[in-house]
Amino acid sequence: MKKGKSQAKWILVLAAVVTLAGAGGWTFMTRLEGAAPVVRIDPPFSAVGAERAFTVEAEDTGSGLRSLSVSLLQGEKTVVLLGRRLDAAAGEGRVRETLRLAAGEHGLSDGPALLRVEARDRSWRHWGKGNPVRMERQVRIDLRPPVLQVLSGTLNINQGGCGLVIYRSSEPCPVSGVTVGDSFYPAQGGLFEDPLIMATFVALAYDQGKGTPITVSAEDEAGNQARIGLNHFIRPRRWRQDTLEITDGFLTAILPGFTASIPDAAARPPLDQFLWVNRELRKANYEKIVELTRTSDNRLHWHDAFVRLPAAASRAMFADQRVYRYRGQEIDRQVHMGVDLASLAASPVPAGNRGRVVFADDLGIYGKTVILDHGFGLFSMYSHLSQIGVHAGQPVQRSAVIGRTGSTGLAGGDHLHYAMMVGATFINPIEWWDDHWIKDNVTDKIAAAGATAKTGD
Ligand SMILES: [Zn+2]
Repeated sequence: MKKGKSQAKWILVLAAVVTLAGAGGWTFMTRLEGAAPVVRIDPPFSAVGAERAFTVEAEDTGSGLRSLSVSLLQGEKTVVLLGRRLDAAAGEGRVRETLRLAAGEHGLSDGPALLRVEARDRSWRHWGKGNPVRMERQVRIDLRPPVLQVLSGTLNINQGGCGLVIYRSSEPCPVSGVTVGDSFYPAQGGLFEDPLIMATFVALAYDQGKGTPITVSAEDEAGNQARIGLNHFIRPRRWRQDTLEITDGFLTAILPGFTASIPDAAARPPLDQFLWVNRELRKANYEKIVELTRTSDNRLHWHDAFVRLPAAASRAMFADQRVYRYRGQEIDRQVHMGVDLASLAASPVPAGNRGRVVFADDLGIYGKTVILDHGFGLFSMYSHLSQIGVHAGQPVQRSAVIGRTGSTGLAGGDHLHYAMMVGATFINPIEWWDDHWIKDNVTDKIAAAGATAKTGD
């Protein structure tokens, strides 16, 4: 009896093994897989400041993950950031952990360290401990923020005007620049032989008055930030009021040029079409200008005052506060962000100064337009052209003819809409036509920085 019972037990065990072997042959195979997990760090970094957040990800598509650990080693010190055994029941094949590394809190000091990520899978290999992977990265602990020193002195700036800011950073910083109110002007090296000397033009928008805060800031590779106030003096300006009477004749003349871009144009009365162009298309065109001026060459392409369209009368000024009226009623308000210069029809348009063409195409309300990059954030823009004579990417000389005046876009007659920008902020071009202003605010600032300026052009 006893023997029979024992046999029955063995038969049951055998049956179980056979069943498992059928359904579980697969399990048996995956348990012997020899592929180690894959580990990743995002973002990859090479420096750690006071604090650094990052994610570590491990994946094992074969047998699943058994453990994941992250540690930082410096000298005799080992800081364990993560030591995780993974639940077998969960059968996790992929794990993602967000970690915060506070170098200061862990007593680490400035200098090199080693970041180590280790993982094992659930394979039966390596005496049942699983396939191991170890990833090591050299990182630099840097707890010191960059030190900033302004070299261009007090910034005297007009409302709607421009200035040049030059400063030196104690170490290379991937993010560095000047903040004016809520606008950031990224600074670049390249104006001086010393690559740590940064420069950028900055603007005070037409609507940024006295009391606008101006700061210089930088963030080093390790994420340490520095911010200092910039001594400045703001001269406030008042802008002109201007009334524009919109006539049916004007609408009949300009609207056909916009029909293709106005949604449901046929269903809208002419005035409604005009308002869409004056508001929505204007906004969309500005977005394009923002995109085009996001980066600027880190060389001063130009010297001497900018060239104004010759023998031209100023028809509208920078920051004119325009009120649009139709049949005696106010219908809209916009601000005129350039100077309108009228000469003979189809007059040749000279490049204001040396630069590089960044745009030469149609730009909605601005019509046929050319935009030039003059370096360190400074741009000039020529609109309503009847003809464009340059193409994007091309370098142009001061006074070179880049097109001819016209009335393309939202223009009542042949004229040049001349605008200047620092980044995407429109500025008053009048400063740039003035030798004295350029000497005081650009040339003398570069000379006073007390460093060797790069030459070449
Ligand atoms: Zn204009």
